[in-house]
Amino acid sequence: MRGALGGPRLLLRRLREVMAEPVNAQARLDRIVIHIAANMVAEVCSVYVARSDGKLELYATEGLNREAVHLTTMTTGEGLVGLIAEKAEPLALADAQAHPAFSYRPETGEEIYQSFLGVPILRGGNMLGVLVVQNRARRTYSEEEVEALQTTAMLLAEMIASGELQSLAQPGQGFTLQKAMALCGAPLCEGVGLGHVVLHEPRIVVKQLVAEDPQAELRRLEQAIQAMREQIDQLIARGDRYGVGEHRDVLETVRMFANDRGWLRRLREALESGLTAEAAVERVQNDARAKLQRQTDPYLRERLHDLDDIANRLLRQLTGQGPAHGGALPPNSILVARNMGPAALLEYDRANLRGLVLEDGGPTSHVAIIARALGLPAIGEAPNITDLVETGDAIIVDGGSGEVHLRPPPDVEAAYGEKARLRARRQEQYHRLRDTPTVTRDGVEISLHMNAGLLIDCEHASEVGAKSIGLFRTELQFMVAPSFPRLSEQYALYRKVIEATEGRPVTFRTLDIGSDKVLPYMAKVEEENPALGWRAIRIGLDRPGLLRMQLRAMLRAGAGREMRIMFPMVATTCEFAQAKALAERELEFLRRHNYILPVSLDLGVMVEVPSLLWQLDEICAAADFLSVGSNDLTQYIFAADRDNKRVSSRFDTLSPPSLRALKAIVDAGDRHGKPVSLCGEMGGKPLEAIALAAIGYRHLSMTPSAIGPVRAAVLAVDVGAARDFLMPMIDRPDDCRSIRQELHAFAERSGVPL
Ligand code: PEP
Ligand code: MG
Repeated sequence: MRGALGGPRLLLRRLREVMAEPVNAQARLDRIVIHIAANMVAEVCSVYVARSDGKLELYATEGLNREAVHLTTMTTGEGLVGLIAEKAEPLALADAQAHPAFSYRPETGEEIYQSFLGVPILRGGNMLGVLVVQNRARRTYSEEEVEALQTTAMLLAEMIASGELQSLAQPGQGFTLQKAMALCGAPLCEGVGLGHVVLHEPRIVVKQLVAEDPQAELRRLEQAIQAMREQIDQLIARGDRYGVGEHRDVLETVRMFANDRGWLRRLREALESGLTAEAAVERVQNDARAKLQRQTDPYLRERLHDLDDIANRLLRQLTGQGPAHGGALPPNSILVARNMGPAALLEYDRANLRGLVLEDGGPTSHVAIIARALGLPAIGEAPNITDLVETGDAIIVDGGSGEVHLRPPPDVEAAYGEKARLRARRQEQYHRLRDTPTVTRDGVEISLHMNAGLLIDCEHASEVGAKSIGLFRTELQFMVAPSFPRLSEQYALYRKVIEATEGRPVTFRTLDIGSDKVLPYMAKVEEENPALGWRAIRIGLDRPGLLRMQLRAMLRAGAGREMRIMFPMVATTCEFAQAKALAERELEFLRRHNYILPVSLDLGVMVEVPSLLWQLDEICAAADFLSVGSNDLTQYIFAADRDNKRVSSRFDTLSPPSLRALKAIVDAGDRHGKPVSLCGEMGGKPLEAIALAAIGYRHLSMTPSAIGPVRAAVLAVDVGAARDFLMPMIDRPDDCRSIRQELHAFAERSGVPL
């Protein structure tokens, strides 16, 4: 059997010389194929490049008809070359013509070649082209030869990605990496962002591909693996987090891979073909990505993340390049990440940040909550996004629809530019209306309040004309902190919030953790049904030390002011009575220690557990005010997980069952003279806000960006007419379907902007 001439190391050295020569791209490519063919003792060597239209174009050849260069193309899946591109795997055949996928191209004159070896040209798991060698005689290619060709393909991948071959592309036919693409993810935060990609975890750039001293590279690799293993062991032993979201189970998986024999063998094989240690890691990772990306099984795809994680750790060890996230950003940046903790997002310079796209993050992930707090257009669950982009790529994020446009063609860019301008104009109109009293056409005032969770949110209160902070979600401070915030830290935040809202009242909600809101530093309690589990006030009453500390911080922050505190997830009047007793005890403590007390203290209850619907008179008698948490109330009324798309969209808040429940609450408040507001997402949607006004709600608290649209709708509606229209439908005995369509038609007829 013939072997490679001089072996892969000699080939790599030759190719490195070719890369350094001052010649044009075509000449360089032509020389590369000559060297590969000679080194591998093959009559043919050809390079096919994947174009943005999905076709593979012959870019250079030694041995086939040169006239066919830039003329021969094939589609993915067509012929042997197309098959390699489709599968992203090497293919070695001693008798190529006998393969069912063989397709004959007369212009290339290839029928005379029997043996065929082709490998995909991969980068970051993306398929950029195919590299092929062919022999006239029947020949079985060895494992080493396949390896050598794969290593060589890395060099070509760099050439393609660097843009060097750009000048050879036909007009309108760029490369895969430049292909315009549209994908759809889950909307996390409304708004349109146009800009350029900034990768939260920039790819580590491997500059040196070819090894000078292979023995030294082997030593470097072994030292780096050892250092990485020690680092992981230490992190596990410390029981601490390496970064946001990295927990013990992730680290354990990474440790398992770091000791995986197959993975280590593949790394050594890649080294033996003449690569540097870092290039070997990249090679092995490219192959793994290409294979796992084509898997639809979520378990296997998750393993890809673990493998990425370990490869990145190793590359960081080898190159000294660190995770460069946080801090300054170029203008119009759109942040792209696999996932990100809430604290990491807050570390970026907000002035230049225009959007966020995540591969994982769902609508209730913590980072999504922060994105909404920042008013940052954001999309989650964007399939494969981190592999599809390069730093600097043009990108458009439509947080309303969940669409992401990568490298958008000019018409898409123009359409979105227009959309963004229209939105800005509408925002300006809302801004002009911010001090207009929110009174309906028939003279009913509907007060609009704002939900907040971070200090930065509070700046928006005057900007959007919110009457008060109707819900301050205190758990966000706990979620972004590295450890449990101390009393002094809680106090400092609450004080600043009160000061930042310039005299507007603030309704603080005590800690609502549990369910999806986990504190990374608190031991996680495994529960079968966390949404029905140990959360919110239940934790507060079982661990009164925590709740009392928080109440003390709030009451001290409210010195000399009117103070409003409410409790989440209360299921019985007794729970409220217990919470109230703790607040009174803290007030007494402060009084005894001569602190300045709030001038008044109103204690409220969130109505979000359906059991309260049958204790309305009692709870109204006990509480100073009620606030309806419609997000949770809806999920419990319909027994449909609010984060599970499959079921959450089956039920509509604008249907008789939920509107009857909501009406019963506001009616009870009216009977007892106790104010009732609603602070779930529902209140921030114009159509829902009209329905709520029609059934008697006079206070709605919502995300700041919703206040403008809801105000515009309230100003245009006649609430008496809406009530007359809606009530018969809510009361109808025989039909409990959604009344959304009918209400929508009513609003349109009445000229209410939606
Ligand atoms: C709600 O449940 O409607 C609510 C406002 O609380 P959260 O969304 O924080 O659970
Ligand atoms: Mg809730």
